[in-house]
Amino acid sequence: MNDYDYIIVGSGAGGGLLAYRLSGTGKRVALIEAGSFYGPDSFNRFELQAVRKLWWPSTWTSNHERNNNEPTEEMMLGMGRCVGGSTTIFTAVAHRAFPENIDNWHNETGMLNFSNEPISYSDLDQSYRRIETETKIRKYTEWDRGTEKIAEGFKRIGHPLSPVDAFVTPACNQNACLFGCPTNAKTGSLVTYIIPAIYNGVDLYPDTFVTEVMTRKSSTDKPLEAYGIKYRDKEGNTGTMSGKAVILSAGALQTPQILLRSGIREKTGYTKSSMQIGQNLGVNIGSVMYGVFDEDLYNWILHPLSANISEFALEKNGGFLLEASTVFEAPIGFTDTLLDADGNPVWGRELKRITKDYRKMAGVFINTHDMNNGSVEIDDSGKTKLYKKFTQNDREHFRKARDLVYEAMQSVGVREVMHSVYLSHHVQGTCRIGENKEKSVVDSNYEMHDVSNLFVGDGSLIPSVIDANPSLTIYALADRLSNHLIQNIQK
Ligand SMILES: Cc1cc2nc3c(=O)[nH]c(=O)nc-3n(C[C@H](O)[C@H](O)[C@H](O)COP(=O)(O)OP(=O)(O)OC[C@H]3O[C@@H](n4cnc5c(N)ncnc54)[C@H](O)[C@@H]3O)c2cc1C
Repeated sequence: MNDYDYIIVGSGAGGGLLAYRLSGTGKRVALIEAGSFYGPDSFNRFELQAVRKLWWPSTWTSNHERNNNEPTEEMMLGMGRCVGGSTTIFTAVAHRAFPENIDNWHNETGMLNFSNEPISYSDLDQSYRRIETETKIRKYTEWDRGTEKIAEGFKRIGHPLSPVDAFVTPACNQNACLFGCPTNAKTGSLVTYIIPAIYNGVDLYPDTFVTEVMTRKSSTDKPLEAYGIKYRDKEGNTGTMSGKAVILSAGALQTPQILLRSGIREKTGYTKSSMQIGQNLGVNIGSVMYGVFDEDLYNWILHPLSANISEFALEKNGGFLLEASTVFEAPIGFTDTLLDADGNPVWGRELKRITKDYRKMAGVFINTHDMNNGSVEIDDSGKTKLYKKFTQNDREHFRKARDLVYEAMQSVGVREVMHSVYLSHHVQGTCRIGENKEKSVVDSNYEMHDVSNLFVGDGSLIPSVIDANPSLTIYALADRLSNHLIQNIQK
């Protein structure tokens, strides 16, 4: 007898939704999460404490290693490690992908819909709509002084900002998204799906790190089948759990690591599909551009990214998405990632001078369209390595975006500008979904090409980079998986 019908690894956007849907049908579901459980009443704006409790340690790429050990552009990738995953610390912008993005998925990996036709935007529409209702998405129109300042600049240069759609109820009255929402206004996975899933009877295992998926020779046409997981708990004790199916929703940086550490490549004889594990990382490379103004703006009061411009987001229109306004919510993250106008780190007296103006700053978050040209790898010593080549096209996106932001800021009297390091919270694509086994890891039914009963349900699935904040699309992909499992697969 299996311990569970479904074992879901990771409780973020994908895992939280799947746990709720599957447990709603009376299935025995385990939701396993490496991070701890904190209820909304335990969140506050204590930056250092929150970063330690709710985040994976931020990881930098090792791009210099692929550049003859010469310095090159690196980026910092950060994700959540707590119940609710990255949606507990996300900034809650809730935008659908562009139809062009999804219509490209079939070209990239041969992804099909459940009627075996090329996947298109309309195949996600129902899922998008359901999630938009469940998470109470609304336009965020309460802008603080920083956003108003930036908005005035963009209006003057003929590109007005629009309020973002956000996973935020009107109860939102402060900017603390990155540290867990203290008002309970943010409708991330924890609030919308996981707490209801617990009422449905899900067994939640926080502080439990999955080290391996257990596989054996398959009785189906695939070489292997999954039958459970191995884990390590908070005290360091190890254990196993069996399930009729395992769903990996550990996020686009961690899901491939679990598969690589489970020896899937070796056990399947290095199939083309298994060699795709961890490849095709896309991130929407980002950077914040800050402006210092004459007056106090206190740009940490309300929701950090309440306005945007999406007209340049698609590659054909420029390849950058602009969101305003942020100063990183708290001073340590801000100073830790600060670069001057020429892109050099800022130290000592100069850092002191700039931080004195913190309350006079407003910033625009630039997110760019990038290629699926990165990877998550494990080197011979067992260490995780991230690579994400920074291309001439990436440089061009930032040049165009920064010129436009500067023009807007200048029109409202900016005194000085500076930047953050390159960073991303939009990791995607490392276990892509599709029919082409040379380009994807799971088939269009989300099951691994080489391993039966092993599914992926998170941002790793995305076949080609989308030009919007990804969580709504990750929810929608997970929603399709839950429908498929409920309607077609009896585990
Ligand atoms: C600071 C920040 C701001 C963001 N802002 C936005 C935004 O405004 N709008 C938007 O759309 N998106 C935003 N994102 C991105 C969005 O949150 C993610 O794209 C989305 O949550 C990814 O969903 P996921 O299910 O793939 O992974 P996650 O939500 O990251 O969940 C993965 C979970 O798996 C757990 N896990 C990993 N490995 C293991 C293991 N071995 N064993 C057990 N558990 C494990 C992790 O701890 C984590 O809880 C933001 C992200 C961050 C970090």
